[in-house]
Amino acid sequence: MIKKYKDLLDKKDLSEVDSDTGLIIDFEERRQKDKVILIPSESICPKAVREALGSRFTNIYAEGYPALRMNQGEEKELLDFEYQLSYYRRYGNRRFYKGCEYADFIESLARRRIAKCFATDRTRAEDIFVNIQPLSGAAANNSVYEAFCEPRDTIMGMALTVGGHLTHGSKFNRSGKRYDIVSYGVDSKTERLNYERIEKLALRYKPKMLIAGYTSYPWAPDWRRFREIADKCGALLFADIAHPAGLVIAGFYPTPIGYADVITFTTHKTICGPRAAVILTTDREKAKKIESSVFPGEQGGPHVNKFAAIAVAFKIAQTRQYRHLQKRIVENCKVLASALQNEGLKLAYGGTNTHLLVIDLRKIKGRNGYPLKGEPAARILDLAGIVTNKNTIPGDEATTLASGIRLGTPWVTQREFGVLEMKKLAKVIAAILTNIKPFSYIGLTGEIPRGKIDFEILQRAKEDVRKIIEDIR
Ligand code: PLP
Repeated sequence: MIKKYKDLLDKKDLSEVDSDTGLIIDFEERRQKDKVILIPSESICPKAVREALGSRFTNIYAEGYPALRMNQGEEKELLDFEYQLSYYRRYGNRRFYKGCEYADFIESLARRRIAKCFATDRTRAEDIFVNIQPLSGAAANNSVYEAFCEPRDTIMGMALTVGGHLTHGSKFNRSGKRYDIVSYGVDSKTERLNYERIEKLALRYKPKMLIAGYTSYPWAPDWRRFREIADKCGALLFADIAHPAGLVIAGFYPTPIGYADVITFTTHKTICGPRAAVILTTDREKAKKIESSVFPGEQGGPHVNKFAAIAVAFKIAQTRQYRHLQKRIVENCKVLASALQNEGLKLAYGGTNTHLLVIDLRKIKGRNGYPLKGEPAARILDLAGIVTNKNTIPGDEATTLASGIRLGTPWVTQREFGVLEMKKLAKVIAAILTNIKPFSYIGLTGEIPRGKIDFEILQRAKEDVRKIIEDIR
């Protein structure tokens, strides 16, 4: 009996233990290979990172933080195992459990690599305080609010409908329920950030915290301008670079380091690592507040296996190969954007200088003038093998009736799609979207947007997508 249990621990693989789960994972693997994935928040996590994620660090608890000593000096000193372990044996530490000596190494290693990646000419790695315990971007953002704001303080961020994130004050999220929210939008003509208006709004409402950083707004913000506004109204500047963090460390998106008081990002979007999030600050006192707000404020035991995966992801992030990947992600997005425009499609916000873009579908209309909505557009694209998501754009009020679809290039660039493939994709996307006949009906939940496409056109598009993938393999 005991022996059998031992077999379960070390010998039996997934197909033997649970063939149903194994099969579903196989299906998902197939889907990821057979489809063109253009979701800007998704990327392919490298095998080495997944290996670390599946390591035995998943077995342990490590509430607390690594020894302060381990956060200083060169990586070589940290990895002097004899030296560090002698301290561990001799002194108490900041963990609530014993057995965390290697958890300390892995958390510190990941932190240092992140600090190194975000260091600039003016900000040294040693001056960047890194917290890698948030379980995801939303949890990281909530921890930031808890660290610096009281309930009913005013927080100002971009509205969800024009590109902000749920956690920037949406009424459906804890942020919108707990704090008084002032939302800024985009200029109605240019669909770009209007800093004079943002400044006016900030001076009027004097928020405790000003948030910049977006989910679907495709242009990089001017951090210097945001810093000025925050200083004028006495706000803390919070940069949420969940999306473009990979571009930032490779130098293809301006860094908020040196401008923002606090920065959060996820490690699973352009960073191409495990699903997790990080909080940065260059202020020691703020770092302390963040630490206690993440643990014990927001979370219990951290996911140590993620620390290992993050460490590997940030080892990769220091390579030339990675820098090249990030450069190509942005280039591909620009090419895709202009190719879509050449095919006659309109881009919300007028274009992009990042890894994502949003197509404005409102020009595509049915016989009775009903415009194409994001939901049927994304659904039909998916049937053809192109995965995107519906997105609200300036002018929209409800997510269910979003008029846009959001596209991004991290995943396809990792698969080595280039200029040629971007142009081919733009053609297929345009052929599908412009041939959808939009309509709607009133269901139990109100207006339900739908669309129809000629079967032959859909089949042709499917075949084109299949060929694009086949040619790249
Ligand atoms: N912040 C921004 C700007 C995001 O785009 C996202 C996710 O899309 C998050 C925070 C939340 O990240 P997560 O989904 O990991 O909670």
